[in-house]
Amino acid sequence: MSFDITNLKVGFIGAGKMAQGIARGLLSSGKVQPSSVIVSSPSSKNHGFFLDFGIATTHSNTTVVQSSHIIFLVVKPHLISTVLNEVSSLITSQQIIISVAAGITIAKLEELLPPNSAVLRLMPNLPCVVQEGALLFSRGTHASEKEADLLRSLLSSCGLVEEGPESFIDIHTGLSGSGIAYVYMFAEAMADGAIKMGMPSSLAHRIAAQTILGAGKLLRDSGQHPAQLRADVCTPGGTTIFGLHALERGGLRSTTMDAVEAATERARELG
Ligand code: NAP
Repeated sequence: MSFDITNLKVGFIGAGKMAQGIARGLLSSGKVQPSSVIVSSPSSKNHGFFLDFGIATTHSNTTVVQSSHIIFLVVKPHLISTVLNEVSSLITSQQIIISVAAGITIAKLEELLPPNSAVLRLMPNLPCVVQEGALLFSRGTHASEKEADLLRSLLSSCGLVEEGPESFIDIHTGLSGSGIAYVYMFAEAMADGAIKMGMPSSLAHRIAAQTILGAGKLLRDSGQHPAQLRADVCTPGGTTIFGLHALERGGLRSTTMDAVEAATERARELG
């Protein structure tokens, strides 16, 4: 299968938060024009977002399948069977199916699709909507390096896009899908600490958010190990080592590892 990316038609079945995040990234990559994208959902409540970008909308999933080379399945997991039962007979071996539905395995997707369908399973996280997502995908039996390259290229503006075996998807959910909530809880607690020490709430929350953003950006862009960056800000006898000691007493590291483990195990149970 080979595609000219400039003529690629992209369809979304589902128009909610994740479809919007991926579509935004797709368009900002400049590789796909709004006129090459079409989106379907039963109601029109999410259509305004796409129409504002010049993307066509429809209530018909079959229209999306008939107009697209690449089809993103962006409906809730319990609807995947219904949607694929509806459109499966129209899908050809020339199309690529990308599912973002949590817990729906490649084996299940391949069972619901025609034989030899090129399937990829993609697990994004919510910061896709600000083009800073962490996305991990796995290839199905009939998806080759070409389809993987195409997906990487299309999603390059959604954030970090990595490929791994399907067994990593649940770990990615525990680390990154759920991980953003751990960071929000940490941000809230940091701001609460500052409020306790006398800083006004809105200022404390703005500074906590910027601190997390700056630390994350430096960590990603420097390529350094977090332990190195942490050591760099620990002046002997200074403020940071006193703060870190308090975090160690509270078991931050062990609790965070437990959180990733618990969320991964829960993702496995749900899968
Ligand atoms: P969402 O905001 O609730 O959007 C779901 C969309 O599916 C809505 O536009 C809905 O239509 C549409 N829909 C419902 N039934 C349909 C049908 N029969 N045919 C076509 N479209 C239909 O959900 P979401 O957060 O975007 O999640 C979508 C998928 O992404 C889920 O499978 C989830 O597991 C996965 N995911 C989400 C996240 C996340 O952080 N949100 C992260 C990773 C993976 P209406 O607009 O008419 O209601």
